Amino acid sequence: MNKEKVVIIGSGPAGLTSAIYAGRATLEPLVIVGNQLGGQISITAEVENYPGFPDPDLTGPDLVDRMYRQAERFGTRFEYDEVIEVDFSTGSPFTIKTNSNTFEAESVIVTAGASPRRLGVPGEEDLIGRGVSFCATCDGFFFRGRDVVVVGGGDSALEEGLFLTKFANKVTIIHRRDELRAGPTLERRARSNDKIEFVWDSVVDEVIGSGMVTAVQTTNIKTGETGQISTSGVFIYIGHFPNSKFLEGHLAMDEHGYVIADEKMRTSVEGVFAAGEIQDSYFRQIATSVGQGCAAAIQCEKWLGERE
Ligand code: NAP
Repeated sequence: MNKEKVVIIGSGPAGLTSAIYAGRATLEPLVIVGNQLGGQISITAEVENYPGFPDPDLTGPDLVDRMYRQAERFGTRFEYDEVIEVDFSTGSPFTIKTNSNTFEAESVIVTAGASPRRLGVPGEEDLIGRGVSFCATCDGFFFRGRDVVVVGGGDSALEEGLFLTKFANKVTIIHRRDELRAGPTLERRARSNDKIEFVWDSVVDEVIGSGMVTAVQTTNIKTGETGQISTSGVFIYIGHFPNSKFLEGHLAMDEHGYVIADEKMRTSVEGVFAAGEIQDSYFRQIATSVGQGCAAAIQCEKWLGERE
């Protein structure tokens, strides 16, 4: 059994910040990376609102790389694996199992983040990677000169829709209401972009294509009118769900599966802290995740210190 002082589950902005703080406190944290180093920001094209980076050239992967190197510099170790099981029932030390290892951790910081929600309509699952995508940064390039649709009306839909205009001929944003959830700056930019067209009050009922996406079937929910929009790509940005399945029955959660943490990032189990989107369905910003990751590491260090 590998014995650790602090195990950080997840490697997004919250996890990497916890690692920087725990590392500087000489706790030699171990980060269990999960399926993607950096989490969601590693697939974010442009980061315009993270303080300290005024030039418009900061990408998500750049920021991940900077945070990663900073964490490593202070003695963080990285385990490239996923957590499949935890046992918090006996209190500290806790047991954490990955696909290939078992760890005994005196304390744990859970920062496993969230994943994109799916529409749950016919064709969506089968055509992932064949036109259906949740990542404009990863796949936008393949749609050079093509028509694509984006589903959703939040900041992500608009931000990624705007990014797609660099490649696509036309970007149709399909939103289920006639009012956007996105903030006014993104709305202004999207509305003034010639390549972007909005389809309001509409939902996607089916993604159509044999082998590759060719169209989406839509319904206008006000008029009941149905139609098809020809497209090569369907980019889905309809929110997220927390990656908390492996924590079910081990930590208190709300009805949507978000871990409940207090203002000091403490969960229902003493010695287990949580930060970032696994416990925050409201703010979901890089800056807030970073702040929460920092707070969790400070509290964790304090808690360990008090036990000695
Ligand atoms: P979001 O704000 O939850 O927006 C999700 C959008 O998808 C909403 O417009 C929602 O419609 C729609 N939707 C949900 N379920 C749907 C379904 N089954 N079918 C069709 N449409 C559906 O999610 P997000 O855009 O990913 O943003 C998440 C958080 O990150 C937000 O707090 C956002 O501000 C933040 N964010 C910020 C930035 C930035 O500041 N640059 C960039 C990206 C994200 P309704 O509006 O009708 O509910």
